[in-house]
Parts: sequence; C-alpha cells; structure tokens
Amino acid sequence: MNVQSGAVDVSLEALKGLLARIFETNGCSSPTAAILADNCAAAEAAGSLGHGVFRVDGYVSSLRSGWVDGAAVPEVRVKGAGYVFVDAKNGFAQAALHAGRDVFVQRIRETGIAILSIRGSHHLAALWPDVTPFAEEGLVAISMVNSFGCSIPMGAKEPLLGTNPLAFAAPIKGAAPLVFDFATTSMANGDVQLAAREGRMLPPGMGVDSNGEPTTDPKKILNGGALVPFGGHKGSAISVMIELMVAGLTGGKFSSEVDWSAHPGAQTPHTGQIIIGIDPSFSEPGGFSSRSSQLIGILREAGMESYPGMRRWRSRGKTHVSISPAILEKLAGYTKEPK
Ligand code: NDP
Repeated sequence: MNVQSGAVDVSLEALKGLLARIFETNGCSSPTAAILADNCAAAEAAGSLGHGVFRVDGYVSSLRSGWVDGAAVPEVRVKGAGYVFVDAKNGFAQAALHAGRDVFVQRIRETGIAILSIRGSHHLAALWPDVTPFAEEGLVAISMVNSFGCSIPMGAKEPLLGTNPLAFAAPIKGAAPLVFDFATTSMANGDVQLAAREGRMLPPGMGVDSNGEPTTDPKKILNGGALVPFGGHKGSAISVMIELMVAGLTGGKFSSEVDWSAHPGAQTPHTGQIIIGIDPSFSEPGGFSSRSSQLIGILREAGMESYPGMRRWRSRGKTHVSISPAILEKLAGYTKEPK
C-alpha cells in the first residue's frame, strides 16, 4: 500500500492476469485477452494513463455491446513484394498486428520496406507499444490509426476527423530507440475524459462546444463539442493524410463513417491501421545506425538531454504499478459474467 496516495502496489504480472481474465470473461479469445492485457499493463507501467486501466471500461462496454468481436480470428494475405493485408474481422487491431507480424517482418527484411495494412479493426490503445518492438529489432516503423469523428478540420464546421495518432520508432545505436507517439488533435480524447472525470478545466485552444464556440470545459467538448487539430492547418493536413493513408490504403472506414449508434456503449473506433516498416540496413553500409547516433549527439550538445522514447525506455524494468483500491474493486467486478 502506498500510504500517501492510498493506492495499492500491484505487480505487473498480477495486473496482466487480472486484465486477461476481464477481457476473456467479456468475450475475448484467450490469445486476444493476453495481447490486450499486455498492452494495457504496459501503458499503465509507462505512465500512459490515458491508455492503461482507465480504458478497461471502454473495452468492456464495447465488448458487451456486441460492437467488437473479441474472439475474431484475423485473416492475413500477402500481395506483391511488400504489402501485407490483415482483415481483423471486426476484432482488435493488436490481435491483427500479432497475426500479420512475422510475415510483415520477413517482407521488410527481404525488400527493405513493407506495409502492414489492417482493416476492420478496433484500436483503443496507445500506438507506441505497436511500433517500439520494431525499433528494438533494428527496424524503423511508422504507424497511423484513424478513430471517430471528433475533431474539426481547419476551415470546416463538422467534426469529421478522428484524434488520429501518428507514431514513429527508430533504433539509435547504443541508446534507447527514438519513439514518438501522439494524437494529431490538440489533446488525446482519453486525456479529455480524464479531465472531465477529475473536474479539471483544460488549457485554452483545445476544443469547442456544441455551438462551435471555444471552451475549456472538457464535458462540453465531449458532449456535442469537438477537439481541434494541433498546430492549426499543419496538424489538420497531417490528420487528413492519416484518414487517407489508413482508410484509403486499407479499405477501412473514414473516422466520419464510424457509426456505432446501433450499439449503445460502444467506444472502440472501428477503422483500420497502417504500419510502414523499413530495414535501415538497406541504406548505405553502416549508414543509418551511425547517422542516428550522430544526430542524437548533435542534439545533446545543443542541450537536448532527453528525446521522445527515453522516458518510457527508463521505465522498462518496472515490476509494480500503483492503483487505487476503488479502481481495483471495479476491475475485479468485470471478472464476473455480465448479467
Ligand atoms: P502527448 O502530447 O503526451 O505526446 C506524447 C509524445 O511526445 C511521446 O512520444 C512523448 O515521449 C513525447 N513527449 C512529450 N513530452 C515531451 C518532452 N517534453 N520532451 C520530449 N518528448 C516529449 O501525446 P497525446 O496526448 O497526443 O497522445 C497520447 C496517446 O494517445 C498516444 O499514445 C496515442 O497513440 C494515443 N491515442 C490513441 C488513439 C487511438 O485511437 N487508438 C487516438 C488518439 C491518441 P515520451 O513518452 O518518451 O515522454
């Protein structure tokens, strides 16, 4: 027990076991339950609290609504030298990635570059757990996911774009991989929900209310309002690119086409995911790895002590997380069959 906060220290292994039981009780096959449990526990351990145990409500609610199929068996198909397609069959994107991963890595290593194109998938997680393992194997990976219409493109009046995260991972010789991963909206939706739950106002410029007026109230953004893209027209254009890359290349839905109205309780966007993988050993011999460490050296000399990915890298060896008793009790409740 962490006396100061009243939270309980839980081992990551115990947390993964609990999460896997929750997902299985609520309709996931046991391999998918284990994949989601690892993902969720890793986010909690890394301090990505918007995608750790906080998301369990959303997973359970979506599974119980019948919107997502936790027992789906993804179908993998290879086209040409470098296209690996996975039809997630209305299941979770992480299970689809797992199913297509081996052949994807084989294609990257053979051709120098390949695309993993996932359609019909649900992603309610952070993207960094999807891309980091590629960098740990010496590969470069870029991933994008679209979500549901909750962000207004620059110049438009309707929330047509998703929060559309973009993640990048690259190996750095002798150091932590460089990994960044963020929503292309002013804030991730999970953080808006956390603020609403905790009664916190947001900084100005994050979103608008149902009348299109700027607001700092997270509840107004969530209830009929919308987020805005980060960086004005620049973030807006990147988010539109993500819609095109993900829905266009996979055959999945645009964020604005996600319609879960027939499934009350559904919270997992049913869209697609793209991962582009590059084998940097195809660059000039010794090129990438020496250039990447050179770049980090230049940044360090300029005073940049930390780069994206380092914070999480340092938290890798963590074996326990602190969780409040109230949340643990709620999680335990999800291991009982729904009435
Ligand atoms: P943040 O604004 O918190 O930015 C996170 C990224 O920026 C990380 O790579 C982080 O690296 C880096 N970073 C943050 N601060 C610094 C700093 N001071 N110096 C250097 N690097 C820094 O991300 P968001 O809130 O926009 O997104 C949060 C998560 O939400 C993401 O994981 C994203 O994938 C997820 N998401 C998922 C969606 C889905 O549909 N599945 C939709 C939208 C978002 P580090 O961690 O190493 O500090």
